[in-house]
Amino acid sequence: LLCSVRAEKDAAGRVTRVIGASVDVTELAAAQAQLRRESQRKDAFLATLAHELRNPMAPIRYAVAMLGENTPAAVREQARAIIGRQAAHMSRLLDDLLDMSRITRNAIELQRELLDLRGVIGQAVDGVRPAYAELGHRLVVSSPPQPVWVDGDSTRLQQVLGNLLDNAAKYTPPGGEVTVRLDLQGAEALLSVSDNGLGIEPRDQAQVFELFSQVRPPGHGGTGLGIGLAVVRQLVELHGGRIELHSAGAGRGSCFTVRLPLAPRQEEPAEPAPAAK
Ligand code: ADP
Repeated sequence: LLCSVRAEKDAAGRVTRVIGASVDVTELAAAQAQLRRESQRKDAFLATLAHELRNPMAPIRYAVAMLGENTPAAVREQARAIIGRQAAHMSRLLDDLLDMSRITRNAIELQRELLDLRGVIGQAVDGVRPAYAELGHRLVVSSPPQPVWVDGDSTRLQQVLGNLLDNAAKYTPPGGEVTVRLDLQGAEALLSVSDNGLGIEPRDQAQVFELFSQVRPPGHGGTGLGIGLAVVRQLVELHGGRIELHSAGAGRGSCFTVRLPLAPRQEEPAEPAPAAK
């Protein structure tokens, strides 16, 4: 505790009032340390951002240099593929950045409707299949035979699952196995993505959901902005759900589980009334 005391005196030098103030310096120091950590994270984020935005430039310039008046069709096609891939990568980065700014302003709005989560899984899985095939990852999906209804935003829930699937592929050495499971538990739907990849040390597990936080597993150069899981957590919480991470540690795989409240049980549609004669 830091204290300061001041005495007020009258003209004759007699003490008339004592004013004291105390500040809890441990709290102050903790707040300052927190600010310092956030500012360091932001600096590191800006450096990563510049790097990530510059990376696609070299292949794009290379592809443009391949193109001339008499470029053979096959080479033109190769250049087109390179530019397309890099443009898609940059669009994803920019979408992440926009979401990040919406998150910090609390400005994400859901377009909710009654959804069968099995459909959301189907679409998200279709979206990542080509990348999984390229990396030689096996993708296993298991869901119940009956619909799993939630009141959710289909695009945003696909984004949640797509992000978890992208990470599972990114942090698992080629030829890995990733499993998507959908289960019902009480009044909740449990949607999990587990991989047999690099895993996350217990001491880093709480941190991975923070904005700009990147925990680089040993031996993983990696790309990304450290935004994905922060966006995922925010989207899950907007749906009234929560996300959990289980990993036994480095090299032992990771499992992210999203818990979402089930929509109130749907009534069977009423039989249409017989037409009046
Ligand atoms: P990014 O992937 O851009 O670094 P994310 O917010 O998506 O950012 O993830 C934050 C950190 O969490 C990553 O840097 C990585 O260390 C860790 N992580 C996320 N998913 C996995 C996973 N499936 N296996 C191992 N580590 C992961």
